[in-house]
This record gives sequence, C-alpha cells and structure tokens, in this order.
Amino acid sequence: MPSRKFADGEVVMGRWPGSVLYYEVQVTSYDDVAHLYTVKYKDGTELALKESDIRSQSSFKHRKSQSSSSSPSRRSSSRSRSRSRSPGRPARGRRRSASQSREHKDDKKKTIQETSLALPKPSENNTKRYNGEPESTEKNDTSCIILEQKLKPDLEVKRVLEQYSLRSRKDDKKTEEIYSEKKTFVAVKPIEKVPTKTKELEFGGRIGTFMMIFLLPATVLYLLSMCKQDDPSLLNFPPLPALESLWEGKVFGIFVLWFLLQAVFYLLPIGKVVEGLPLSNGRRLQYRINGFYAFILTAAVVGVLLYFEFELHYLYDHFMQFAVSAAAFSLALSIYLYVRSLKAPEEELAPGGNSGYFIYDFFIGHELNPRIGSFDLKYFCELRPGLIGWVVINLAMLLAEMKIHNLSVPSLSMILVNSFQLLYVVDALWNEEAVLTTMDITHDGFGFMLAFGDLVWVPFVYSLQAFYLVGHPTTITWPIAAAITVLNCVGYYIFRSANSQKNNFRRNPADPKLANLKFIPTATGKGLLVTGWWGFVRHPNYLGDIIMALAWSLPCGFNHILPYFYVIYFICLLVHREARDEHHCKQKYGLAWERYCQRVPYRIFPYVY
Ligand code: NDP
Repeated sequence: MPSRKFADGEVVMGRWPGSVLYYEVQVTSYDDVAHLYTVKYKDGTELALKESDIRSQSSFKHRKSQSSSSSPSRRSSSRSRSRSRSPGRPARGRRRSASQSREHKDDKKKTIQETSLALPKPSENNTKRYNGEPESTEKNDTSCIILEQKLKPDLEVKRVLEQYSLRSRKDDKKTEEIYSEKKTFVAVKPIEKVPTKTKELEFGGRIGTFMMIFLLPATVLYLLSMCKQDDPSLLNFPPLPALESLWEGKVFGIFVLWFLLQAVFYLLPIGKVVEGLPLSNGRRLQYRINGFYAFILTAAVVGVLLYFEFELHYLYDHFMQFAVSAAAFSLALSIYLYVRSLKAPEEELAPGGNSGYFIYDFFIGHELNPRIGSFDLKYFCELRPGLIGWVVINLAMLLAEMKIHNLSVPSLSMILVNSFQLLYVVDALWNEEAVLTTMDITHDGFGFMLAFGDLVWVPFVYSLQAFYLVGHPTTITWPIAAAITVLNCVGYYIFRSANSQKNNFRRNPADPKLANLKFIPTATGKGLLVTGWWGFVRHPNYLGDIIMALAWSLPCGFNHILPYFYVIYFICLLVHREARDEHHCKQKYGLAWERYCQRVPYRIFPYVY
C-alpha cells in the first residue's frame, strides 16, 4: 500500500492549475498508480492533483476576512477597473463557479459549465507571481488533469466545443454569456504568503550577471569607438581611448541637469494619474501619465536652445564622454538602489531580484518599486531621460552632420533614421500606460540592468545609426528611401496593430470591434487569440519591431555591419524574450497554450521560427 499523506474526505488546500493560489478542497480519492489525488473544489470542480500541490489547512495562516471564503465562488469583489493593455501583463483571469441557484440545475450540464468556466481569479496581492514568474519552481499544469466526465455524447461534444474549440464571439452567444458572467464572479484574496525568494536565476545566474556588469559598458564603449573610426570594419579594432578623454566634469554636469529637468517634468501635475497592478501587499501604486507632455516640453526647451544658437552638436563632439557620464551616473544610482533596498520590507522586494546573491540582486534589482516620496525612480527612468534623450541625440547628430559636411539640409538617410525612431519614441510615450504591466515594472527590480539599460544602452546604442551617418555619409536614392519607408510603415503597422489587438482584447474581451476574432479559452479566464495578428505568428509585435529595426539600419547602406548591430542584437533579444514568455505562458495556461502552439506554430517569423 503506497503511503499517502491525505485521506479521503479530508479537507485540505489544493493549488489551482497555472497559479500559486490555493483553495479549500476535499480529497475524494487517490490513484495509487498515478500518485494523484482527486480533489473537489467548493464550486464542484474536480481535479487530479499531485501531492506537492496539496497542503494541509493548518499550514495556511488564515486572515479573518479570508477564512470564510476559501472557495473562489464565495468571495466578494467588484469587477476589476480596467484591463491593462500591456505586454506581459499579469494573468488576471477570474475564477467562475456555479452560483447557488445553478446548483439545482441539471447536474451534467453543471459539470460542463464548471469544467469550462471555473476560472481562477489570481489574488490581488499576488502580483509577484504574475507573468508566469513564480518564485517557487513548482509546476503543476501538466500534472493537473481536468477529469474527464462520462457525459452523454451530445453533452460531451458541447463540453469539448465549450472548452477548447475556437469560436467567433460575434455568433457565439454562449461565449458572451461566459464573459457577462464575469460580473457575478468574485475576486479571490490570497490565503498564504508564499516565500518570495527568486529561485530561477536568469542571464547566467551569478557569474553571468557579474560579467554583464562589465560587458555592457565595454560593449557601449566599443561600439562608439568603432563608429568614430574612418573604417569601422569589425577587424579594425579601435585603439583604447585615453582615460582623460573619457571624462569631463562639464559633460557630467549637463547630464545631471538633463536628468533633473526630466524629473521636474515628471513631477508636474499634468496628465492623468493611474494605478499600477496590485502589489504583493494588495496596494496599488499611483503613476502619473505625462511622458508625452514631458516630450512636448523637452521639444520646447530644445527649440528655445536652438533659437538662442546653442550648439546642440556639442553632444556629438562629446558623445563618448556623455556615454561615460551616463554610465557613471547609472552605476551610482544602482549602488544607491541596492543600499536602500537592504532596508526595504520583504514584501517590497522584486520577485525576480531576490535571490539572496548580492551580485545577482544588484544586477536585476532588489527592490521592486523604489520611490522617494511619490517619485517612482524605475518608472521615471523607463521612458523619460533615456528615451527622450535618444531623440535629442538623434537631432544633435542631424545637426552635426549638416555642420560637418556643410549641408543646407540633412541627408536623406539621416532624415529617415530620425523620423523612424522619432515615431517609435512618440508611440511609446503616447502609450505610456502600457509600461505599467510590463515585466520590467511588475517583476524585475530596479538595479543595474534597468538603470544602465534605460540611461545608457537605449540612448547611446539605439542612436548608433545616426551617429554612424555623421562620420560615414551614405547616399540613398529616392526610390530606395521610399522602399525603406514602406518597410518601416509595414513594421510599424504590424507592431502597433498587434499590440493594440492584444491590449484591447485583454482590456475588454467583449469589445464588439473585436467580435471577428477567435480565441481559445483558458483556465485562467483569459482567452488566447488565434486569429488576427496573434493567429499569424505567436509574437507578431516582435515581428513588427524587428522589421522596423531593419528599416532603421538600411539607410546606412551596406558598407559596414556596424549600423546593423541594433537589428542583430534586437533579434537575439526578442528571440530570448520570446522563449522566456513562452515558458511563462506554458506555466500560466498549460494545455490551452499547447493547443495555441499547435494552431499557431510559428513564434516570430512566419514559416521560419
Ligand atoms: P508582449 O506584448 O509580447 O506580451 C506577451 C504576453 O502577451 C504574454 O505573456 C501573454 O500575456 C500575452 N499573449 C501571448 N499570446 C497571446 C495571445 N495569443 N492572445 C492574447 N494574449 C497573448 O510583451 P513584451 O513586453 O515582450 O513586448 C511588448 C512590446 O515591446 C513589443 O512590441 C516588443 O516588440 C516591444 N519591446 C521593445 C524593446 C526595445 O528595446 N525596443 C524591448 C522589449 C520589447 P497574458 O496572457 O498574461 O496577457
């Protein structure tokens, strides 16, 4: 007789598939061959769980307000305010259960509905484990099997259709019922505080992150030094710059001024204030959405400076020094962030940056949302000094090109690079709210990785094409310029419409404008689109982004590979990111994700990958 920990009839806490939420369940049987317990949730759902997904009730600390409602169907809550449109947004499905009145209806029909509609609502204070980033390495999706019911053939067909088939919401009343029922279902509060240590280390763990701290600044210096050379061929390694040529106090002062100016714009009481996703303690931080205003104000300041004949190409002349100043600033900021994170309460630490290893946590970021009063350091750095700085640098390169080559108008190549990248930055600032649900905000802490990425990598590496064009003029014809513009527009169209399609669907799945889209329902309550852009490839937004990246490099011609660094690096970044997201989605959605992958086999590039 195999040993089993829980007896039939025992009331225990069972983990809901694809989540770290535990609900009160009753053990109904045990399969000693498969070593799986059959458990029954309070809403009638029956699942087979591994022993590791079951805990005794005594191991849970019940809070008074939660103790009486361990069944998701009994909790009360209001409909969540808004569904964020963002990428990487957390699973915010909601659990559905049969209501009291439905309990008296036909049992088999009820089973069908419960199987397909029992949707878990992740706890509001469970953000840390959203985005498929559990702290623990527990996985139960594949081990947790929805028990097949012995149903009449017609009901079986119906169940299969309801649970798995693709459906158009236009014609499918049933689906509308499903979504409309959301109003009646209730939110679930967590009943256990799961330890928040980061177990799965990324970026090569301690050694990898240690090396990255040196490798990233070295790469920036290498790229910029290469760009300065007359012949920036890969084999033509640039000489090491003299140390004193890398630093100038005035440049550092200008950089700090720039940072402070953006901070002042950020603090201006203009723009709406929105709430971020719930934190692990249930709180939601408030964020002011005024990045686009900051951009307009910056444009005005730059316009005034130009009017008074301030020589913006100073930026070009001291580009390397600016990059070094930004790197020094980001290093100092990271040290400050790490030191202050040591005093931060456990619940405010980042789920991705709480490994206990100094170097790893320093790199990823130990504290999730470091704030000075209401000034959110990470959110501020994400889109403002670096991203807006990128546009200003591009403009400085354009002016430098005109000055150095005595041009009355910038070259066509320079105009294309400036325009394409300006569009990208304006788009990001216009859709600023979307950043609140990205992995950067909800999962990674604020440490060296983001500080350096936001303040150095984005402005100084992403502007490489414009920097290159100043020293390496490239002539392109109008037809080629037109073809590259079309390519950029195609990329932008795919990027924007794919992101909007998903964001709108996440915000309001019942939106009549999306009625023609089909989706696979998942156990979390969120659907996976299988038509439209998300039915074309699994990350159409990445495809669009990569097409744009190529369009940014093409104006630089084919003499050197250097201006193609961005597109090559970006493909690697997005392929790696896609793999991370794939891993997270598999954990979140289990079988439904596998069905999605079968239906949409290509990940980013159609017919390739
Ligand atoms: P994504 O916008 O790709 O979001 C991925 C999430 O979308 C998944 O975790 C899942 O989350 C949801 N999802 C996946 N498939 C489906 C589907 N079929 N139907 C509905 N929802 C689905 O996240 P990123 O943050 O990686 O990218 C956001 C944008 O930022 C992209 O356009 C990317 O190109 C760009 N980017 C730019 C960078 C740069 O340096 N320029 C760097 C990184 C990204 P859930 O189900 O929980 O909603």
